[in-house]
Amino acid sequence: MRRAAISASRAKDFKQCPLMFRYRTIDRLAESPRPEAVRGTLVHAVLERLFDLPAHDRTEGAALNLVDPQWASLLSGQPELLTLFATEVEVDAWLAQVRALVSNYFRMENPRRLEPAERERLVEVEIGDGILLRGYIDRVDRALNGATRIVDYKTGKSPSERFSADALFQMRFYALMLWRLEGVAPSRLQLVYLGDGRTLTLDPDEPDLERFQAGVEALWRQIEETALSGEFPARRSALCPWCSFQAVCPVFGGEVPPVSPEGISDLLGVRRAATPGG
Ligand code: SF4
Repeated sequence: MRRAAISASRAKDFKQCPLMFRYRTIDRLAESPRPEAVRGTLVHAVLERLFDLPAHDRTEGAALNLVDPQWASLLSGQPELLTLFATEVEVDAWLAQVRALVSNYFRMENPRRLEPAERERLVEVEIGDGILLRGYIDRVDRALNGATRIVDYKTGKSPSERFSADALFQMRFYALMLWRLEGVAPSRLQLVYLGDGRTLTLDPDEPDLERFQAGVEALWRQIEETALSGEFPARRSALCPWCSFQAVCPVFGGEVPPVSPEGISDLLGVRRAATPGG
């Protein structure tokens, strides 16, 4: 079985609510897909396929023409997605939102002038004393001088200044992984918010990423201690209305089921076991 790893999303889950983290990562309770999440998946698929085309063919029309085939491809793997919509009219309205987001992309970047080095790159790397990090990076661009830019597409709106550090958590996470893997820190992190046409950027340096790594290691120790205790507290927040686990959350009157022992032991595999004598 594939070794467990910590991803930026799972780390954020734990920060938001340890009980939600437990249900999602340890017990792996089923969650129904939400139209907004599937919309994000479809827009990402379209933008990824767009770069399969020769540079001069990457027009807005060509991207919009990719929406229907990519939707058909998603549905062939997950036909249950159609149950998210009550009527054909709802599907059409939802697809119109997808097309609007794809069109917004063309107000922000010119894909005919871009040649991504990598798309949907899977990165896995150990940090600290053997903690495995894993993540998929939407796009990696490399300039002729070797400078690296990490780009991530978001289908929502950009956050207010107060929440931008939280938004950049994921990008710093990716930057840390690439830095540890390649030995050179990416020079720019860029979040492309298709919902409102704004971009959030950060140019990290090594001291910044060192501090970030120390924070991830401290977070992992907290996760490990919580897993060993078996007590995952529920943390109510403004994000609870979007949580799939209200029925098993004490904040909403639900009863917490026993934790999966196999899930706990998988999770503890995120940190490589010390070799004897090591
Ligand atoms: S509903 Fe809120 S408090 Fe309960 S598990 Fe979900 S995020 Fe945590």
